[in-house]
This record gives sequence, structure tokens and C-alpha cells, in this order.
Amino acid sequence: MESNVSIKIVFATGNPHKLQEINEISRGSGIEFILPPVGFDPDETGSTFEENSFIKAKEAALLSKCIALADDSGLCVEALNGEPGIHSARYAETPQARIDKLLGNLTDVANRKAKFVCAMTLVDEFGNILDKEIGECYGEIATEQSGTNGFGYDPVFLVDGYGVTMAEMSEDLKNTISHRANALAKIITYIKSELV
Ligand code: IMP
Repeated sequence: MESNVSIKIVFATGNPHKLQEINEISRGSGIEFILPPVGFDPDETGSTFEENSFIKAKEAALLSKCIALADDSGLCVEALNGEPGIHSARYAETPQARIDKLLGNLTDVANRKAKFVCAMTLVDEFGNILDKEIGECYGEIATEQSGTNGFGYDPVFLVDGYGVTMAEMSEDLKNTISHRANALAKIITYIKSELV
């Protein structure tokens, strides 16, 4: 735990690894993110990353009666009209099947531009929006996968300006350039100027 924590905020996830990543990215900020109470299980029925992050943040806030932050993220591929987008987690059955499906859909496709997008919404204890931000990370879809770090589509996402896939980057480097890190930096700026 941070020794200089000045505010605790619920982070709307059931995934302790995601919480750990968020706390890693925000280390030294004076903000500690904590899990929502047991029973947090929102229906992600939105049609955009923004809507889904709001749904998650509001449910976590109402359940915990605390300020809550949520994210929603995914991979958008230009030649696939932004797909898999909000369907990134459910594009196919397993992580490997999702990568295989993506590479299959891009066979012989020259335009391989893609971006990771992360929407974050911060709400008060009643579910009213305090701040919302978008973070993006630009790259291209490789023709074959490489690297073992990270998760999801990292092994096929060649990060612009780095010449390696996200799965070939150290966790520390990914945490400074990722879509989540970009969105969180803006949210932290808001929290520090308005709430601390
Ligand atoms: P969620 O916002 O955690 O629900 O993420 C949605 C899905 O987008 C994940 O299951 C991954 O498939 C994909 N995704 C989001 N962020 C990343 C990332 O940093 N690397 C690789 N895949 C990601």
C-alpha cells in the first residue's frame, strides 16, 4: 500500500490483476484504487466503450457508496471498420482463438492500422459523472504473433514507434504508453485538481 495515499477510489472491476495494473500505473499519485464490494456484476449493455465504462462505474458507486472509476477497452482495426471494438473480449472463445480469428480476417489485407482504445468514467457516490476520458495507443496488426508478456491481443499489436509487439515490451514500458495509462493520466490530473 502507498504510504502517501490521500484518497481511495473504487475501481469497477472484479479482476484483481486489473486493479493491480491500475495501482501500478498510478503509483506515487497519492491515489489508491480498491475493489468494489462483493456482488459487483454489471451488464455491459452499452454500444460504445464510453457507455460501458459509465455503466460499470455507476454500479460500483451505488454498491459501495463511494466515488468510483471504471474503464472499458478494446482493439479497433481500421480495415475491419473498427472491429472487434467493444466485442474484443468475446470475439472468439479463447485468447488464442481471438488472435487466430483476427489474423485470419486480415489475410492479404495491406492496411493493418489499429488502435487500442480505453474509455474511463469517474462518478460520484450517486453515479453522477465527474470526469470521462479516452486514451488511445496506435499501432499495426502484425502478420504473426510474437512475445509472451501482457494479455489479449498484445502478441499481434506492433506499437507505433517501437518496432516490437506489446507482448515483447516490459510491463513498465507498456504501463507508460498504453491506452489505459493515457486515459488514467488524464483522470489522475482531474482527481488531483478537483478532489484531493
Ligand atoms: P476490458 O476492458 O478489460 O473488458 O477488455 C476488453 C478486451 O479488450 C480484453 O479482453 C482484450 O481482449 C482487449 N484488450 C484491452 N486492453 C488490452 C491490452 O492492453 N492488451 C491486449 N488486449 C487488450
